[in-house]
Amino acid sequence: MVATILIFFIIGLLVTGILVNPIFVKQRRKRLKHRPFPALWNAIIENNLPIYLRLFPTEYRRLQGHIQVFLVEKQFIGCAGLQITEEMKLTIAAVACLLLLNERGEYFPKLRSILIYPSTYFVNETIATGNYVVEERRVARLGESWTKDQVILSWEQVKQDTHNWNDGHNVVLHEFAHQLDQEDGKAEGVPILPRKSDYLIWARVMTEAYQQLCHDVQQNIKTVMNSYGATNPAEFFAVATETFFEKPQQLLKQNPALYQLLQHYYQLDPIQWIRD
Ligand SMILES: [Zn+2]
Repeated sequence: MVATILIFFIIGLLVTGILVNPIFVKQRRKRLKHRPFPALWNAIIENNLPIYLRLFPTEYRRLQGHIQVFLVEKQFIGCAGLQITEEMKLTIAAVACLLLLNERGEYFPKLRSILIYPSTYFVNETIATGNYVVEERRVARLGESWTKDQVILSWEQVKQDTHNWNDGHNVVLHEFAHQLDQEDGKAEGVPILPRKSDYLIWARVMTEAYQQLCHDVQQNIKTVMNSYGATNPAEFFAVATETFFEKPQQLLKQNPALYQLLQHYYQLDPIQWIRD
């Protein structure tokens, strides 16, 4: 009996080892990327994501490949009685995978599941109010990214943000930018960059842009970025990502250095997608 358990245990270890082996993972992803992309999926994404048909042919095909991998590797969970549909999975996967077009080969490695609520959801938050007093409050949320392994989204917000592509607000871009930021275990507005020298440039451009936004918000000066970006450097990166994808022309005009930094990081130029 003990010997049988031991054999199963060893087989289990071997199978797990093979499944997480980088070579096996790479090959499995390659196979998934080459799967035919169903026409119905295309129709759903075309209907929900206005810039989908504006991508360059290479980006378009690459995005479809990433979506295939994303859908197999991530788990979608409906909350508060929500039934998960193909439309929900494809819309979220398509927007999230826009952030992966740079082919770094990672698929939000810490993320395991995406929890979806029908609309705004509420959580209990403990807030220190000073003088050692802690208050528990009920707070409304539209989305959040947990360092652990989850992203939580409101479907109503996802749909609204994805259809209104040019307003600079997109909860999926925002929460998945946090995932990129948190990949190294820290949420401080610095994702993993390809070269050591990139970190210096990143720090210089981001710090300058963040301080400028904080100043503008304090002085009530209108800016292309949402004032929420002035909360901290992590929120700044998430909001800058939303602005880069949804208001590229305005961002380039207001802060060319920040635009070019994000263009270099994401390896794409969203201005090309709004060409006539
Ligand atoms: Zn955030």
